[in-house]
Amino acid sequence: MALSIQQTIQEADRCVACGLCLPHCPTYFKTGSEADSPRGRIQLISAVAKGILPNNARFKDHINGCLGCRNCETACPNGVSYGAIIDTTREITHQPNRQTRLLGWLANQPKWLSFFSALLRLGQTLGLLTLVGKVNSRLAKQIALIPELTSTQRWQTLYPAKHTKRGDVSLFLGCITNAFDTETLRASVYVLTTLGYTVHIPTTQVCCGGIARQQGDSKTSDACAHDNQHAFHADWPLLTVASGCGAGLKDYTHLPVKDISEFLIGCDWSEVKLSPLNQHIALHEPCTLRNVMKAAKPVANLLANIPKARITPMKGNQQCCGGAGTYMLHQPEMADALLADKMKLLSQETFDILATSNIGCAMQLGSGIRQAQMPLKIMHPVTIIAKQMGFQSELD
Ligand code: SF4
Ligand code: SF4
Repeated sequence: MALSIQQTIQEADRCVACGLCLPHCPTYFKTGSEADSPRGRIQLISAVAKGILPNNARFKDHINGCLGCRNCETACPNGVSYGAIIDTTREITHQPNRQTRLLGWLANQPKWLSFFSALLRLGQTLGLLTLVGKVNSRLAKQIALIPELTSTQRWQTLYPAKHTKRGDVSLFLGCITNAFDTETLRASVYVLTTLGYTVHIPTTQVCCGGIARQQGDSKTSDACAHDNQHAFHADWPLLTVASGCGAGLKDYTHLPVKDISEFLIGCDWSEVKLSPLNQHIALHEPCTLRNVMKAAKPVANLLANIPKARITPMKGNQQCCGGAGTYMLHQPEMADALLADKMKLLSQETFDILATSNIGCAMQLGSGIRQAQMPLKIMHPVTIIAKQMGFQSELD
């Protein structure tokens, strides 16, 4: 939740500077600078909030350099709410660039986003995106992030349970997921309705507000949280397929938010037959899934139900991939360095599929995989499960 300046100072003052969080911080690991560590950032924030240090460009650089992965939070013996501190600090420091401002605007324009996605899909089919990436090096990085797009979906507000009804759930679409990974959302509806759940997709839902919050635009992110709070049924589980969205909804609404894999692991699977999948799956652990949703384990348990599938957690899972929302766009150097670490570790083993539960990570890792020309499919764990249940990419 957002803090006032006074609350930020109080929370920052709870840091006893023990330094236990330092080895868990990817930016400290990369730069070795105290100012790029959680402890250093907290001290800088406290000093700026108290007026001891100026809110200048150097301060902003250290704040903008934070991935918001919240590894530090889980390592802190004093339970310092680093996520809340950094969210509030971004409000007073962040100046969005053109790219992130456009993304922030698009996130709240679902019709334009669908149109944009359809345009990109056409560009992919005709090979135009590859061409643009070759002639315009400034756009090459952004183009590399775009996954292979599937058709967009006109959502119904309700998908009834296919068999004996076991309950109702709401599904959060998410702006980027709905534009760039519609297949995972379709797969989720398929799995849930097959297991006996009626899936509600209210049209009044909006972006989780994460992109705006990362830019320090609390007015927009608070409005998103407010609209979502009223869009969804207060008692039905609100399932998310992108842990980045799930984390934002969990932090800023009072809704019963759950990662979809965590929900599915508690369902009755006795009447479902999963066909074998003789493939090696690298399991990526998004920071938001591990540190905020606390739901990394259920994903592994869910995939372990697939006969013959070999599941191996990715080496270096504890370190952020560098995607981190819009971080990969406004901090490309650090994002690339973190991605290079992932690619190095990934290349040490042979995998068929990389499973990840966050669209931002899928885009960041996907760009590395395509660049390295690794023969590796990136899939959401629920899409893998759905395919083994007979899902064919489209809803009936
Ligand atoms: S959120 Fe991540 S990058 Fe930021 S200070 Fe904490 S560990 Fe470091
Ligand atoms: S672990 Fe917690 S108390 Fe220790 S330096 Fe880090 S934030 Fe401060």
